[in-house]
Amino acid sequence: MPRELQIQVAPEVAAQQHLLTEHVAKLMQVSPDEINHIAIVKRSIDARQKAVKINLKLAVYWKETYTETTIPLPDYKDVSNSKEVIVVGAGPAGLFAALQLIELGIKPIVIERGKDVQERRRDLKAINREHIVDEDSNYCFGEGGAGTYSDGKLYTRSKKRGDVDRILKLFVAFGAADNIMVEAHPHIGTNKLPKIIKSMREKIIEFGGEVLFDTRVTDILVKNNEIEGVVTQNNDVINAKKIILATGHSARDVFELLDRKKIFIEAKPFALGVRAEHPQTLIDSIQYSCDFRGDYLPPAPYSIVKQVNGRGMYSFCMCPGGVIAPCATSPGEVVTNGWSPSKRDQATANSGIVVELKLEDFKPFAKFGALAGMEFQKSIEQKAWHLAGETQRVPAQRMIDFTQSKVSADIPKTSYVPGTTSVELGQVFPVFITEVMRQGFVDFGKSMRGYLTNDAILHAPESRTSSPVRIPRDPYTLEHLQIKGLYPCGEGAGYAGGIISAAIDGEKCAIKCAEEFK
Ligand code: FAD
Repeated sequence: MPRELQIQVAPEVAAQQHLLTEHVAKLMQVSPDEINHIAIVKRSIDARQKAVKINLKLAVYWKETYTETTIPLPDYKDVSNSKEVIVVGAGPAGLFAALQLIELGIKPIVIERGKDVQERRRDLKAINREHIVDEDSNYCFGEGGAGTYSDGKLYTRSKKRGDVDRILKLFVAFGAADNIMVEAHPHIGTNKLPKIIKSMREKIIEFGGEVLFDTRVTDILVKNNEIEGVVTQNNDVINAKKIILATGHSARDVFELLDRKKIFIEAKPFALGVRAEHPQTLIDSIQYSCDFRGDYLPPAPYSIVKQVNGRGMYSFCMCPGGVIAPCATSPGEVVTNGWSPSKRDQATANSGIVVELKLEDFKPFAKFGALAGMEFQKSIEQKAWHLAGETQRVPAQRMIDFTQSKVSADIPKTSYVPGTTSVELGQVFPVFITEVMRQGFVDFGKSMRGYLTNDAILHAPESRTSSPVRIPRDPYTLEHLQIKGLYPCGEGAGYAGGIISAAIDGEKCAIKCAEEFK
């Protein structure tokens, strides 16, 4: 058995194999030549002390020989002639559901309104450069879902380590770097994700599943409260007795369809605010208590939460060394989110800074019933679009100016490619949100000295944090409470938040479908 060690070392030691070997050899009182291999089992950064340290859990192969192993793909079966399940949406929930179905011998028919990862790039360029929003192909819609052109952070609040590890292993088997199994806060990066997503799709097709792009589900066929199939935008009917509905938190037309058909849905609280952008060097100096990060530490992330006026205000989807993306899914609205490349080597750090909402906040939209939260969200996105000049430019303000209700005299160039318009952001939000954020940023500045600065630019709104709607399901069978064969799944249905938890939920729904077929 390799010897397990838990050590804390300086960043340069953790990053350089020969220094690490010397350090370990000294601890074990052996010669460095006697160590065959050091495998890093877990790595995390401890920035609580003045000199940042790296925590490492190691497996040291000293007397044993080390043989490199790769993580294999599961034992997929040919499902060409098997029973069929429709999976609507090729985001993490839909893709992992489809792969799990194949593992269980069932044929998935994946229906995706957007384009494949390569084609999708063109539409992202059109949003960024020409301010054109394609309602079926954008940062939220298309192969891989909202997670494809993201930071690819793979952390989750899920406590079920086994479930999380299974998803991470699958990512590695499909081409992700194996350090995601080791890092305390793993991420993949926008440049690497599309290739991984593409190999997942190829595997689905290789083993007999179907993947339909440019195909939007416009109706769900139900008879006697049982699923019969779906209708697509060209009026094609695809029949199946089971549908995994994994359409994400931005598919407003799907929520409207369910509401119209009186398929039970309910409003769900979410969070909303701005996306803040700081120079990465500033965040590094705050987080690492240093003037210069050096060569051996990654661009620093941050995570912060405060209570203001009885509401949580917190950082969300923080992207070190990243870029702010235009994430609208319809013309006439502005939405922000962030991504970063695998090296996180861009000059700025961005993060959603959002305020917790409560169901009673949606009262002005009560006439929309279960869609009240969605209409509240939409109204803010549309206001932002209007205030910034009715293109994909985003309303922006310097941070201290915002806390003092002062329109910024100028806005420097930020990473948000379509551009910014100087707007007093209090105009974008209802007063209660603005008040929480004004106080919250002052409080953040007290906890993170240097954070409250006019060098930080706020972009508004950050509004797609989680679904504004829940599609209720039975906690055991995972079927919709009313409709047999309908499996509400992933983030859009209200059962996940982020790539990993959406993938876990996709697998869970697939397993329940398979059990029903037995
Ligand atoms: P989605 O990924 O939203 O997928 C739903 C799919 O359904 C889409 O592809 C959509 O086109 C399709 N669809 C919708 N309606 C229809 C229809 N009617 N017919 C057919 N298809 C339809 N999470 C993280 O964990 N880490 C990150 O670093 C991270 N960064 C992000 C960065 C950005 C820019 C964005 C937008 C999101 C980010 N997220 C991140 C959130 C993450 O992407 C989502 O939590 C996750 O993708 C949800 O998975 P899902 O499968 O439930 O839904």
